[in-house]
Amino acid sequence: MLEYDIVIVGAGPAGSAAALKAASEGKKVLVIERGPEPGSKNVSGAEVRKDYITSVFGEGMPYERTVDTMKLSLYEKDKPVNIDFHPDGLVTTGRLKLDKWLSSVSEQAGATIIPKTTALKLNWENGIAKSLTTDRGDVAAKSFVLAEGVNALVSMNSGINVDWTPSNSVQAVKMVYSIKKGDLNNIFGFPDDDTGMSWRMIMSDPLVAGFMYTYKDSLAVGIGSPIKELVDRKIRPEALLDKFLETTGIAEKVKGYSLREYSAKVIPEGGFPETNVAKGNVYLCGDAIGLVDPLTFDGITPAIASGTLAGEAAVMNYDKEVYRYNLMKHPEISKIAKERKLESDFMTSNKAGEYINMVSSLLEGWAAGDLIGIRNTMVGNYRNIIPDLMSFVMRMR
Ligand SMILES: Cc1cc2nc3c(=O)[nH]c(=O)nc-3n(C[C@H](O)[C@H](O)[C@H](O)COP(=O)(O)OP(=O)(O)OC[C@H]3O[C@@H](n4cnc5c(N)ncnc54)[C@H](O)[C@@H]3O)c2cc1C
Repeated sequence: MLEYDIVIVGAGPAGSAAALKAASEGKKVLVIERGPEPGSKNVSGAEVRKDYITSVFGEGMPYERTVDTMKLSLYEKDKPVNIDFHPDGLVTTGRLKLDKWLSSVSEQAGATIIPKTTALKLNWENGIAKSLTTDRGDVAAKSFVLAEGVNALVSMNSGINVDWTPSNSVQAVKMVYSIKKGDLNNIFGFPDDDTGMSWRMIMSDPLVAGFMYTYKDSLAVGIGSPIKELVDRKIRPEALLDKFLETTGIAEKVKGYSLREYSAKVIPEGGFPETNVAKGNVYLCGDAIGLVDPLTFDGITPAIASGTLAGEAAVMNYDKEVYRYNLMKHPEISKIAKERKLESDFMTSNKAGEYINMVSSLLEGWAAGDLIGIRNTMVGNYRNIIPDLMSFVMRMR
């Protein structure tokens, strides 16, 4: 049987960060990826924090456009309240190129990547995982990292985490349109091929969170809506998407351009800190523990942050409570735990409507320059929410 110090399942951002950390510590590391190459299961793009990724993986990250403007629109019925931010260090990037690059950096540090191999289950003896069974044979290791993304089959097979249910899942639909660079620049008024924008939208009736990103020669747009909301209100995701595209004016912008990609995915909400993060010598990270920022939709930063910590835990063979403590004290991860509370309140559309009304009036005050007043505002039951919303808004600037 093959033998390694550490075996990692998944060559996404979390797995590559874990591999980089463990290999940099001199360990013999194997990464198992079911796709033909890293990133091939995540073909479309994303908006990411280049500064953070560079701080972990070094210079050379491939990207599409710099996000010069980030727009946030809160819709009360069909009327939006818009706020523009000018963030630093935010870029759009293709996942295939990004994941390949992240994985190549871990390879340069000494990790071995085996693609086209699916991990099936861990084999345990007295609470310690001894080996991993894959569709191409078994491999033994001293510790394991599960960075297998949302569909965390090995974690579920091992009884570490249970499957997600409709009541804590969001149906996401994403589309990518091919639009020539020049056309894209004209549509959005970009001065050059490097400038780009991203747009986040929240609608309350029905509850929808939407996004739009510009890549070099394409545009991605998508929505996410709680499955419970869709079922309770008998709404079809396609109908919701059409309404969203019309209301935001995106339908008009993409008219006549070809649809390059259409994907639908169920995303668990309400993950970390509720999820189990480790068992014995097995450490979980990234989407496998539901680490997506519920307000900014940033999943890649926490995947990399938690992957690095999982790599360290696997090297040091930390107890699961030490690993959880390290996750909780990491700034990129603790903020997700905090925002989760806000999100769970937001998951019902009547609450979302109330929040949007409240934020709209606050932001009108803010737009008028009354920032200090807003920060000190206490509005009935919302006194705990306002500092969160404000810190979210301030962070995005
Ligand atoms: C529609 C949509 C849009 C998003 N947009 C953004 C965005 O713009 N910015 C952002 O930061 N985040 C975004 N996210 C979230 C982001 O994609 C994830 O949070 C991030 O990819 C998590 O990284 P990960 O390494 O944990 O998992 P993944 O990226 O999912 O990687 C898991 C890897 O494990 C492999 N794998 C899984 N099971 C096995 C197995 N049994 N054996 C072997 N290999 C296996 C998979 O093939 C995959 O390569 C978006 C998510 C969705 C659904």
